[in-house]
Amino acid sequence: MPVKPKPFKLMCEDCGWAQVYAPRSDAICAPLNECPKCGSKKINMKILNSSLSVFLNKLISKQ
Ligand SMILES: [Zn+2]
Repeated sequence: MPVKPKPFKLMCEDCGWAQVYAPRSDAICAPLNECPKCGSKKINMKILNSSLSVFLNKLISKQ
């Protein structure tokens, strides 16, 4: 049984840059190791909750 990847949010502690990733079922999503904006390695990853996950999946499926 395939496991659906959960959407997650990356945030930079230094400059406040943030990006939400909502990977599709079998897509390989390479997480960032450093901030694309300031180059900081202080990247926080937060898994988003399931209700937002459903919301994002609806948005993606409409495209
Ligand atoms: Zn940054």
